[in-house]
Amino acid sequence: MKRLGALEAGGTKMICAIGDETGKIGERISLPTLAPEETVPPMIDFFRDKGIEALGIACFGPVDPDPASKTYGRILKTPKLPWRDYDIVSAFREALNVPVGFDTDVNGSLLGEITFGASKGIRNAVYYTIGTGIGAGIMSEGNLLHGMQHAEAGHILMRPVAGDGFKGCCPSHGNCLEGMAAGPAIEQRWGKSGKELADQTEVWELESDYLAQAMLTTIVMLSPEVIILGGGVMAQEQLFPMVREKTLKLLNGYLDTPQLRDIDHYIVPASLNGDQGICGCLKLAADAL
Ligand code: ZN
Repeated sequence: MKRLGALEAGGTKMICAIGDETGKIGERISLPTLAPEETVPPMIDFFRDKGIEALGIACFGPVDPDPASKTYGRILKTPKLPWRDYDIVSAFREALNVPVGFDTDVNGSLLGEITFGASKGIRNAVYYTIGTGIGAGIMSEGNLLHGMQHAEAGHILMRPVAGDGFKGCCPSHGNCLEGMAAGPAIEQRWGKSGKELADQTEVWELESDYLAQAMLTTIVMLSPEVIILGGGVMAQEQLFPMVREKTLKLLNGYLDTPQLRDIDHYIVPASLNGDQGICGCLKLAADAL
């Protein structure tokens, strides 16, 4: 068994863990995401002397995940200014002297689900995280999609739902998916956080209208065999049946596949009890060896 390090680098917290290539997780710590000079040294201290053979990092973005690029391993134009242009891969590789695997946070979560979770072995899959922001990890024919940088599926445009006066809060696009359906959009539209609105049916009706539009775009564009929905907003489990039903309604019979006929197993929650990101990091580490 290999001893591997995992770093799920999120915009609000960093989770560091030790595990192995079977997805078994041992010791872990969680730290708030402050500036690199405050947050990185204690993480390096955690991993040092643990005897890890490789480290996997799944990081909030935008990032440069292209090993052939001059800026590989950096966090790019993030609104979190202290982290802008920070070379997170070099920081850990140089301090720990082990190979480092690196990808986006959402690709990491997708990799965890595909390697160790309920979607194990599926080769065409999309993982959305719907929380403070919205992002998607995409796997096509068994490969994580990067393209020119990585997908930014949180920014697909939405058709406003009749009666919804909210203009959207994405600073770049207004009414994109993130601007209409991420946690901050819910809070700005209704004046309360999603958690406080759990029993307000109209909130989740509208939320599922937008998520279903994203599902339609995803299905017709990428033809995934499964779509996994994670993130804080999806803790509202009542969303799942609503999103499934509205997705089929939007598809309007245009596609008929075995997966869509069994939609309860097609649009699914994450299955690893919140550890999909860490599990994905372990896979990134194993692959880096
Ligand atoms: Zn946007």
